[in-house]
Amino acid sequence: MQPAIPANEDERLEALRGFDILDTPAEESFDDLTRIARFIAGTPLALIGLVDADREWFKSVDGATLAEVSREHTFCAHAILSPDRPTYVPDAREDARFADNPNVADADPPTIFYYGAPLVNADGLPLGTLCVVDHRPRTLDPDQRGVLDALARQAMRLIELNQRERQLRREKEEREVILAQLEHRNQELEALTGELRVRADTDKLSRLGNRSAFDTRLDEDLILTRDHDSPLSLVLLDLDRFKPCNDRFGHQVGDRIIRTFADILRSVSRPTDFIARYGGDEFAIILPLADRRAAIDVARRVLAAVERADFSPCDTRASLGVASLEPPRSEDSSEELLRRADEALYAAKAAGRGRIGVSDQDTGTMRLVETSADTPG
Ligand code: GH3
Ligand code: MG
Repeated sequence: MQPAIPANEDERLEALRGFDILDTPAEESFDDLTRIARFIAGTPLALIGLVDADREWFKSVDGATLAEVSREHTFCAHAILSPDRPTYVPDAREDARFADNPNVADADPPTIFYYGAPLVNADGLPLGTLCVVDHRPRTLDPDQRGVLDALARQAMRLIELNQRERQLRREKEEREVILAQLEHRNQELEALTGELRVRADTDKLSRLGNRSAFDTRLDEDLILTRDHDSPLSLVLLDLDRFKPCNDRFGHQVGDRIIRTFADILRSVSRPTDFIARYGGDEFAIILPLADRRAAIDVARRVLAAVERADFSPCDTRASLGVASLEPPRSEDSSEELLRRADEALYAAKAAGRGRIGVSDQDTGTMRLVETSADTPG
């Protein structure tokens, strides 16, 4: 007799496939169960079989080498029709369901005895059986049957545990992927934040610090040098007669000159210095740890580099003002240092440009530094 298809077959197959067990390799924990089953029943064969759409696939077989068989002639396909109780067939030849089964009537050796304890999931859906088989008629006492039923429950638990373990592993992998993605996003964000910060602090044309970054840095360096009893110097620089050059040759030429001048400032400064474009054609260099002499030296080098630079078609020069705190005292402020550097710059402009004015902290006076630079036009 052909086994009927269970009414909830679709649901049953979905549940079976959800366990991800079909076509997985043999496992010792399942093989242990079939070994015990075979020993308890005293049969030549014990199996854990799962009924797929058109085959029975064996997770474990003790007593034969078998991977799967076609579903239509299996005892298991009958057994899953009664998931609430075991299928106990002492002599298949006398059972209407199996008498004409080729495995009973024609096979050598034939399947005569069968006891199948159903493997049922939490929703009561039968996936297959843990079964024992013999080639002759036999009976099992209630204890034997009870143990086989218990083994079937253990097999089912094992299937569920495996599924849970696989799920956890998948979730862990997913979590790791998500974490890696988050980490990546975070790095991108940090890079972006850094980039934005640099952009917010940088003058686009000269790629030097801008006015706001300069203000912050001067305050910071004032505190730092005061705390370390070290000198702090400031050099303010302004291009001479830049406006007529701009007006005559255009902004593009003016921009190129600003960029070239910025390169000069970079070339004369140390890594601890901070260079800023303070305004249109005004620049500043903060020199922590540099006293007045060191600052004047930097100023001279700027002038010398300006002499050598190619500012054509303009003959651009610069005036510089130097002010130092040796070292900053608690009453000194960055505003005061700036004011003094500005006065020194003004003195250089007033004296004919292309020069260095220096503010004397002690006397509050200005003086000019001797340079080889000519006074332009
Ligand atoms: P001084 O010798 O007294 O400094 O005179 P100056 O001609 O340099 O005049 P001033 O410093 O007052 O003018 C600065 C000029 O800088 C005005 C403007 O034409 C030019 N300028 C300001 N910002 C930019 C800029 O971003 N690009 C260009 N190309 N020119 C600028
Ligand atoms: Mg100027």
